[in-house]
Amino acid sequence: MPHRYRLGDNRPVHESLLTIAVPSPLHRSFDYLPPLATDIAALLPGMRVRVPFGARMTIGILLEVTAHSRIDRKRLKRALAVLDRSPALSADILAMARWASAYYQYPIGEALSAALPALLRRGQPPADPDDTGWRLTMAGAHLDPATLRRAPRQTAVLRQLHSRPEGLRRAELEATPEVLRTLREKGWIEACTLATSDTPAPTECEAGHVLNAAQQAAVDAVRETLGGFAAFLLEGVTGSGKTEVYLRIIAAVIAERRQALILVPEIGLTPQLVERFRRRFAVPLAVLHSGLNDSERLAAWRRAGSGEALIVIGTRSAIFTPLARPGVLVVDEEHDASLKQQDGLRYSARDLAVWRARQLAVPVVLGSATPSLESLYNVAQARYRHLLLPERTGSAGLPSYEILDLRRQPLEHGLSPGMLARIRAHLADDGQVLLFLNRRGYAPTLICHDCGWIAGCSRCDARMTVHQAERQLRCHHCGSQRPVDTHCPACGGEDLRPLGQGTERVEQALAEHFPEVERLRIDRDTTRRKGELANLLQQARAGHGRILLGTQMLAKGHHFPDVTLVGILNVDQGLFGIDFRASERMAQLIIQVAGRAGRRDRTGQVVIQTHHPDHPLLQTLVRQGYPAFARAALAEREAARLPPASHIALVRAEATEASLPSGFLEGVKQQIHELGVADVEVWGPVPAGMERRAGRFRAQLLLQSTQRGSLQRLLGSLVRRLEQAKAARKVRWSVDVDPADMF
Ligand code: ADP
Ligand code: ZN
Ligand code: ZN
Repeated sequence: MPHRYRLGDNRPVHESLLTIAVPSPLHRSFDYLPPLATDIAALLPGMRVRVPFGARMTIGILLEVTAHSRIDRKRLKRALAVLDRSPALSADILAMARWASAYYQYPIGEALSAALPALLRRGQPPADPDDTGWRLTMAGAHLDPATLRRAPRQTAVLRQLHSRPEGLRRAELEATPEVLRTLREKGWIEACTLATSDTPAPTECEAGHVLNAAQQAAVDAVRETLGGFAAFLLEGVTGSGKTEVYLRIIAAVIAERRQALILVPEIGLTPQLVERFRRRFAVPLAVLHSGLNDSERLAAWRRAGSGEALIVIGTRSAIFTPLARPGVLVVDEEHDASLKQQDGLRYSARDLAVWRARQLAVPVVLGSATPSLESLYNVAQARYRHLLLPERTGSAGLPSYEILDLRRQPLEHGLSPGMLARIRAHLADDGQVLLFLNRRGYAPTLICHDCGWIAGCSRCDARMTVHQAERQLRCHHCGSQRPVDTHCPACGGEDLRPLGQGTERVEQALAEHFPEVERLRIDRDTTRRKGELANLLQQARAGHGRILLGTQMLAKGHHFPDVTLVGILNVDQGLFGIDFRASERMAQLIIQVAGRAGRRDRTGQVVIQTHHPDHPLLQTLVRQGYPAFARAALAEREAARLPPASHIALVRAEATEASLPSGFLEGVKQQIHELGVADVEVWGPVPAGMERRAGRFRAQLLLQSTQRGSLQRLLGSLVRRLEQAKAARKVRWSVDVDPADMF
């Protein structure tokens, strides 16, 4: 809370101070004297302030106006200028970013800075002056006009604004500056950014489907809670009409001219989804994704913050988009790992969405065919309400599963005779075939048949992938590349062979077996050019390419109505991954890929190749489905006290010198013991799964507790100590709270 001396206070009146979050690696804010001739009363948290910091100038965010500082006033520097007339970071985003900074142990200045679009971070004005206007606040909208009978000029303005909830330009308002000031001071109107073009009235254009009973129940449950906080897990098998449920909820929200924020894993991968929203609603939409340049991003951000865009769709970072009139938050594919940021402020956009919805008092819907164990656990703990869509829409049933035992089978470039026979049968029956292999390139590595040498990356503990068409070896971890060796560097032999399969190699094999059949390969290598992915997906949907082959780009969210056979070429990696989430990820991937099959009226067939056909989790998954798998996996996690049955954080360190990271982490462990927290366990330090990556050695320390509070308190103290520690300067260290990836 801002402190200000009131008249009559007999303490010495000092100039107020500004507490500012300045982007820096330090986990604290800084106090400044206000710029000369500043109207302190006009300052609000979230405004940008230009300040001197060390030898440079930078832009910080005002956190509060205060009377006291722990630092001697004489030593405080003076801020140079306040850049905003209204806060660049709205109160809601400011609160969320502050919370995220504390929870994820990331410096406050950097965290707030990350919440701003790049152009605002660099000092650009928040809005085009032409676009500023006025609109009613919530209080103003609910005002009883009778209370204002003796202020006709104020009433007139309120009436005018009432007919235009999105706001009016200053010039369009018939009001004197005094009237506007009075209304603003009463809290009935506020300044806003306006759309540049005329906003059409919200209408639903394309009609939706008649909902089935489960969809209707889900829509009703959420609609009943509009206007207050509630968290829902919408679990619907693939093709059960989850998106249709979102659309109906959103229709109700925008009918009240409130906004819906929808988070999706990767917009580039699901161009159809945005199209579906556009076709359904003739309302302004803002789409935020990594393909935007800085000014496009700022424009979309403004249209969301002004309330003009009633629908805001974006990837992970869109959780920081301001909303003038929030109505509902939706997180699609809530299990997807891409919702967790893997560097900098390591936030989970899903978890922030739930936090934000609570703050905004709006419902949040997390949707998935394969919910994360975290969300299922939250359902079990009665924190989320469970909405189920158990059946597919239309006549197609769920696909049937078959496990193909690869042991002792002859394999041709990763394809077993059984798989080839099934592909042939489906093609003959006019079906479309989708083959999934989560590895691009020709082969995962190159081996010398004479001595066993394997082509490794010189900068990583990883193998080089063979890319045949380009005659190159590439490291998928650091990007380094070199021509394919002609001689073995170890023995000089010439019998160098690609080992294992990537999509490029399988495609060649398919060309030999099915020369007359049209094929489409969709992976990162075939979709480098802009627009190429959308183009290939379009062809795939249209039924061109009787065989579709691809990596997980092909697995997510697409509808291929003619696909009758899904072949999963290799699941064994997922069954034996070192990460405790490996089996969960594998199961989600299988179900998601399988979900592409049999959507029109033909039931699909899913065939999984494995060397471990009896693996218990795989068996549970294909025989009893994802919910049964999830129950079993959750029981295992609880027995092992792994998340979500406990809370974990990783302290990571990396350096170019091999011994530094683990040495540093030993010191961290020592500090933790000195801090003496009873209910947090410490494991390690151990080298990371891939110890060396891009020339740096990496190690990690695992902290685990059943008490989130204890873990948080420990991390807070620890980070403050590390900030001071000399040893911490020799390594690059970071904290990852609720890590999604254990490497
Ligand atoms: P999901 O998001 O669960 O994969 P979608 O909402 O995309 O499912 O629905 C799958 C398909 O079923 C889409 O083609 C959609 O148009 C259609 N669909 C959705 N709901 C219904 C319904 N109630 N009746 C008929 N078809 C529907
Ligand atoms: Zn050799
Ligand atoms: Zn590498």
